[in-house]
Amino acid sequence: MNDRLISPNATATPAIEFAQVEKRFGQLKVLRGISGHINPGEVVAVIGSSGCGKSTLLRCFNHLETINSGRLVVNGIDLSAGSVLSAADLRLLHAQVGMVFQQFNLFPHMTVLDNLTLAPRKVLGLSDKEARQTARILLEKVGLGEKAEVYPEMLSGGQKQRVAIARALCMKPKIMLFDEPTSALDPELVGEVLLTMQQLAEEGMTMVIVTHEMQFAREVADRVLFLNQGQVEEEGPARQVLDSPQSDRLRAFLSRMS
Ligand code: ADP
Ligand code: MG
Repeated sequence: MNDRLISPNATATPAIEFAQVEKRFGQLKVLRGISGHINPGEVVAVIGSSGCGKSTLLRCFNHLETINSGRLVVNGIDLSAGSVLSAADLRLLHAQVGMVFQQFNLFPHMTVLDNLTLAPRKVLGLSDKEARQTARILLEKVGLGEKAEVYPEMLSGGQKQRVAIARALCMKPKIMLFDEPTSALDPELVGEVLLTMQQLAEEGMTMVIVTHEMQFAREVADRVLFLNQGQVEEEGPARQVLDSPQSDRLRAFLSRMS
């Protein structure tokens, strides 16, 4: 057992646990004592108006932002305010928590295959052969087996995003974070990316998805968190929250979305 892990049994404890988390940028309080959890295998959609703190929350989960106060434990790694994270912890975190952004962030000067094998080789220490094997399997899985040798500029936005998902999966993550993965796509390309995400959800991946795709959230997410001004305003089973919103703010938000 790895002594860096707080939880001896990851399946018995939340994949992500956050309590009274605050995050400020200068004077601006973005996360204001937000609390919640993500269970292993759970798919949670995070919704809310622009600027309410969705991306910041996700970035805290991946330690792209450091929280100012509160408790945060991600896959057994303690990211609470004041805790000291070793370089080894950080590597472990970034291997175990994959992130997919709105902008695909593929390396333009590398082929698709090289984009996929870079981190597994550098971070996980896989041989070139092992990394390529895994990468090809994952490219097939996202329906892009044919595209291994092309450069990102040859791909559509939907294909680039599926490559970005495959790239994250090459690290064999325990948790996948998605920050508006379809927001930059032309409408006709959204479906293929959502389908890839749905397949991943059905395989039992733990997923936190910031999205404005309410139909997708309703069908694929187990639970929805509605954020307002850096706090959870309403949460519950996806259909319950989306079909029978309790708060005026959520009702207003959903009516703007439809
Ligand atoms: P959302 O993803 O819900 O639209 P964000 O989490 O991106 O919201 O941002 C929440 C607030 O924090 C916004 O007011 C935004 O301008 C601010 N913010 C986000 N990142 C930074 C940063 N690095 N520096 C300063 N302000 C930031
Ligand atoms: Mg955002």
